[in-house]
Amino acid sequence: MKYIDEYRDGELARGIAARIAGQLRPDRRYHFMEFCGGHTHTISRYGIAELLPASVRMIHGPGCPVCVLPIGRIDQAIALALDRGVTLCTYGDVMRVPASDELSLLRAKARGADIRMVYSAADALGRAREHPDREVVFLAIGFETTTPPTALVIRQAAKEGLGNFSVLCNHVLTPSAITHILESAEARQYGAVPIDGFIGPAHVSIVIGSAPYEPFAERYRKPVVIAGFEPLDVMQAIAMLVRQVNEGRAEVENEFVRAVTREGNRAAQAVVAEVFELRSSFEWRGLGEVPFSALQIRPEFAAFDAERRFGLVYRPVPDHKQCECGAILRGVKRPSDCKLFGNVCTPETPVGSCMVSSEGACAAHYSYGRFRDIEVRAT
Ligand code: SF4
Repeated sequence: MKYIDEYRDGELARGIAARIAGQLRPDRRYHFMEFCGGHTHTISRYGIAELLPASVRMIHGPGCPVCVLPIGRIDQAIALALDRGVTLCTYGDVMRVPASDELSLLRAKARGADIRMVYSAADALGRAREHPDREVVFLAIGFETTTPPTALVIRQAAKEGLGNFSVLCNHVLTPSAITHILESAEARQYGAVPIDGFIGPAHVSIVIGSAPYEPFAERYRKPVVIAGFEPLDVMQAIAMLVRQVNEGRAEVENEFVRAVTREGNRAAQAVVAEVFELRSSFEWRGLGEVPFSALQIRPEFAAFDAERRFGLVYRPVPDHKQCECGAILRGVKRPSDCKLFGNVCTPETPVGSCMVSSEGACAAHYSYGRFRDIEVRAT
C-alpha cells in the first residue's frame, strides 16, 4: 500500500476482523493492552473496539505523555514562570493539564506569567537566542520519540554557549513502564490486570527499535506486536497477537515494517545517550514512583538543566480525589467508570490529565465513544 487512505479501508478492516474471529478459541478471552496513546486514539476514532469479536478486549495503557505527567511536575513549571519570572515554553497540550490550586499553565499565563506554546524544542531554543535578556526554560515531556530533539537543543545550546536557556526534563521510558505494569506491588494494589499481550508503540519504536522489548516478552511470556497508527495497522497487530497467543508464543513481532527496524535510529540513540542519563526514580501519574523509568540531564550539561539551575525540589501532589486517571492508566478502570466523565470533566473543563490530550483515554472516549456502549462486552 502506498497511500494513507489505503490503511483506513473499511472493507479490508472488516476482512481482518473476520479473520480474527475465525482464529479465536471458543474457550478463552483475549485481553490486549495498547500501550501508546496514539493507538488509543485510533481505536476510539475508527471504532475498532466495535469491529472486534466480543471475546477480544482492548485495554488502554499509560502511553500518553501528557497523561502520565504528575501534578508536581506541572507545579514546578508554574512556579518557575510565576515566581522566578522565566519565560516557560512547552507543547500546547501541556498548557491545559490541571495543577495545584486550580491552576494550569494556561491559567498561570492568564495571571501574567510569561508562558509560551511552542511546536518544537528548537522553537524554545530560538526564543532564548532572540531574547538574551530573558531566562528561557523549555518544559520537556514525552517518551523516546520527543527525547532526541530535546537532546539536540541542549547540545546546540552548549555549543553556542547560550547562558539563558535550560530544560526542565520530564522524558520517560517505554519499556520500564510496561514492565512496571506487570510486576509492581503498587499496580497490583488496584487489582490484577489480565493482559495477554501488548501492541507496541509506533513512533517510539522507530527510535528505540524492536530489540528493547525482547527481554520483556521473554521474561514475562507476553507477546508484543509493534504497530503503526492507522486502523488497519492496529487490526493486523491484533490478528498477530491472537495468533501468538493461540500458538503459545511470546515474541516481539513488527507489523510496522515500513518504519521500524530491530535496531532503531542509531543516530538518535547516540545523541540521547550523550546528553541524558537514567534517573534512579521518577513519579508517573497512575503508576507512582517507577525506578529507572525516566531520564535526567548529564552533569556535563548541568548548566542547561533547569532543576539544577533553579535548585528545584520535587514535591508529589495527589490527584483530584474523584479522578480515576491513575486506575485508567494502569488499565484497571475505563473512562466510563469515572463519575466525573462527560459531566464535570470534559475536554473543555478537564479535571484530570486523561481528558486533556487527544491521546488520553478519557478524551478519546469523550470525542468518539461516549454515546456508544463499546465496552459493554468487555467484561
Ligand atoms: S473523566 Fe476526568 S476526572 Fe474522570 S478519570 Fe478521566 S480525566 Fe480523571
